[in-house]
Amino acid sequence: MAFETKQQVFEKIVAQDKPACPHCGRIMNLWEVPPVPCDDGLGWGSPYLYMCFNDECPLYVEGWKNIEENYGRTASYRCMCYPDSLKFECISVFGPFGGTGQIVDEEALALQEQMERRAEEGKRELEGFQSSGDAEKVLQILLDATEPPRLRNQAAELIGDMGDLAALDSLRNTPFDNDIIQKKVEASIRRIHDRFFTRECPFCAEIIKHRAKICKHCGKEVAGL
Ligand SMILES: [Zn+2]
Ligand SMILES: [Zn+2]
Repeated sequence: MAFETKQQVFEKIVAQDKPACPHCGRIMNLWEVPPVPCDDGLGWGSPYLYMCFNDECPLYVEGWKNIEENYGRTASYRCMCYPDSLKFECISVFGPFGGTGQIVDEEALALQEQMERRAEEGKRELEGFQSSGDAEKVLQILLDATEPPRLRNQAAELIGDMGDLAALDSLRNTPFDNDIIQKKVEASIRRIHDRFFTRECPFCAEIIKHRAKICKHCGKEVAGL
């Protein structure tokens, strides 16, 4: 896996929908993990987690009783979720505010707001490019790593309907650091090929007609491949 900065992880997480707590159904908060490792000493494995901070969450309400009865301690659980795997787990908290101090810091929120604004503005731009048929501009947004992931994701989808064979090169040669965008791009590459009745030569990767029997670039036989 490629090394990711905390910023990259944050941008990726902000682009995805927050999960709902499986215990109470409430949308979870994004939580910045504390700088100290958690009690198993292994650390959290992610700089951000989702947490259910609902004080009426059954897991949390029942937790006080369960831990008191089983361990004689005053503590409870809150539901947490890993942004990567969307796997839910419980973590112990020792008071109603346990953990709440770490809901994403202001800087992160400011960045999020900024990205939200740009995503909204960019969405309108994309709609304009779509009606004027400006695939080049759509591609530009998609390839610009500083654009909000959500916006790039929309561009990745649009380009499949708007892009031509020239766009394929950029799409194939750009590594996308975000799996969701990468998958959208791959689907769009297939859509562009469908629209132009083309495919990639399995030997030299050049673009050939879908029905080609011999690759015009490398001369290899490609019928039925
Ligand atoms: Zn909950
Ligand atoms: Zn070839």
